Amino acid sequence: MKIQNLRKAPNSDFLIIMKRNALEKDIKSVIRKIETSGLKADVSVGESRVVIGIIGDESKIDFDQLRAMRGVSRALHITVPYKLMSREYIQDDISVKAGRLEIGKNKPIYIAGPCSIESREQIFRIAKQVKEAGADILRGGAFKPRTSVHSFQGLGLSGLQYLYEAGKEFDMPTITEVRSQTDVEIVSKYSDILQIGARNMFNQDLIESVARQGKPVLFKRGPSSQIDEYLSFGERIVAEGNRKIILCERGIIPLGGSFPSKTRNTLDMSAVPILKKETPFPVIVDPSHGTGRRDLIYPMSMAAIASGADGLMIEVHDRPEEALSDGAQAIKPKLLGKLINDSNELYKLLRKLNNK
Ligand code: PEP
Ligand code: MN
Repeated sequence: MKIQNLRKAPNSDFLIIMKRNALEKDIKSVIRKIETSGLKADVSVGESRVVIGIIGDESKIDFDQLRAMRGVSRALHITVPYKLMSREYIQDDISVKAGRLEIGKNKPIYIAGPCSIESREQIFRIAKQVKEAGADILRGGAFKPRTSVHSFQGLGLSGLQYLYEAGKEFDMPTITEVRSQTDVEIVSKYSDILQIGARNMFNQDLIESVARQGKPVLFKRGPSSQIDEYLSFGERIVAEGNRKIILCERGIIPLGGSFPSKTRNTLDMSAVPILKKETPFPVIVDPSHGTGRRDLIYPMSMAAIASGADGLMIEVHDRPEEALSDGAQAIKPKLLGKLINDSNELYKLLRKLNNK
């Protein structure tokens, strides 16, 4: 699915900037005004200003009346189609909490684990090894999006339970994909972070139901999406009142396929600094799906950290040749240890060079 003329989408272009000295009751009046016009309001309280985002068809709003209200400084015209995700709306970096962890704050985070949970024994074994290698968050697919109906589709509910137990045993928050709307509640019951996979980036009903769980959402970029489209769909998460968003670049491919000949996708590393500039949310990179090649995971991880990524998602398997999915793009735990160590060093060096 493609969005036509995204930049020309009508009637959704304004943010209301409140005056510095605006009172709580002035802000409430503006919200009431928006809501009585049949729209929703979202409030962003920054260090220096309060901004109100309008969600819905702004043609229903009388902007002259709104501008004249007490406490209103101006209506700011936003030129990007993802105004609630824009830096103009939320100026300060947002970090996302998962358990004791904070993603997007002062240190890269590492999400590691197998592509698929294959058995209780397998996820416990790999969880122990990635924990020892320094990983922060345990990943594993239970409901797998697969191209072929003949491929392993994941263990479903029992996979979720094994992931949950392994996360508890090794004291790591967990992440797994919500593939369909019917699975939202059950996945949310078992997993700390909910992943929306690349194939579902355009699935607005799924995005909204996942967002409504109120849990952190790792929102992967669709392989054929432009950044504006990606953020426009991410906007739906904020519009549901959930700002716990982690963005993830995982490689792109032209609509209809082909183009890369040596890799599974083309990892768009330039997306990282662009996303960091355009939005306040943490950005991570998945070089496993981005390249499809184990030998490229280390160099692409370094490139991701150098590009400003807040973390990495890496597929890890101790017996990749036996993996039921994506073995070719899984590294072994030992290499994960080196990768985490070197990424941390590179991150520190770059901060020093940039006086941060
Ligand atoms: C995954 O992370 O398990 C996955 C299927 O990735 P993607 O949606 O990026 O293909
Ligand atoms: Mn995979």
